[in-house]
Amino acid sequence: MGKVWFVGAGPGDPELITVKGRRLLEGAGAVLYAGSLVDQAATRYAPAGCVIRDSKDMTLEEITAWLIDQAGRHATIVRLQTGDPTLYGALIEMVQPLDAAGVEIGVVPGVSSAMAAAAAATESLTLPEVTQTVILTRIAGRTPMPEGESLHELAQHHCTLCLFLSITLLHKVMEELLAAGWSADAPVVVVHKTSWPGEEKIIRGTLADIRDKCRAEKVTSQAMIIVSPVLGARQWPELKRSKLYDAGFTHRFRKGVNTAQ
Ligand code: SAH
Repeated sequence: MGKVWFVGAGPGDPELITVKGRRLLEGAGAVLYAGSLVDQAATRYAPAGCVIRDSKDMTLEEITAWLIDQAGRHATIVRLQTGDPTLYGALIEMVQPLDAAGVEIGVVPGVSSAMAAAAAATESLTLPEVTQTVILTRIAGRTPMPEGESLHELAQHHCTLCLFLSITLLHKVMEELLAAGWSADAPVVVVHKTSWPGEEKIIRGTLADIRDKCRAEKVTSQAMIIVSPVLGARQWPELKRSKLYDAGFTHRFRKGVNTAQ
């Protein structure tokens, strides 16, 4: 029996897969990839003769049956997922049937679209004394939110929010943030198809106008929404600096000097 690897492909740019993920693809006998966002990595790195299949028209049962069948034929099977496999990727639903079938599995992390979107926009998700917390979440759609996790409740922390699977519900995002006390001119950045060469779009706006801006740019899918009090900090004239690099701060690798004048 072969081993099935759940590999994070990263957000789209084939260069954003990990070295380990790429090595596994290069040695794979079979690859099942999740939709259009990751096919480039699959086709670029998988060896000649590798069985490559898109799972977009498959049910969960068909996916796991396919992986179990391929595990009987090859030593290395890769299930390639967008971004990081542990976020909104049905990982456990796929792992359980493999466990039941006695198929060994491994998971390789990937660059999540949340991180890639922040990088594309040159935004930091944390900033000293502004926010030190990031919430990765989504708005309720067909999948309801568990109790205590509505956007309205989470937004009351006023920290950074990275919203997956929510671009078609931007009006609800706006309503819930306003209800949580965010102001209409709070900054928002939406990154569409982040890291995709020639296709990435970075749309900056406020809670009040981001929906119209996304509409004007025809961004209705595959987008990461970041709302945060630190957006735009690149342009701020003054920052609270990170203590780690502060000349007066002592830590394990450096003794601070007294910088008081
Ligand atoms: N596991 C993935 C998320 C899968 S859920 C990850 O870690 O990124 C799918 C959602 O992820 C999309 O609705 C969108 O919000 C986001 N997403 C995935 N790839 C993206 C990309 N290249 N650019 C922007 N958002 C992306």
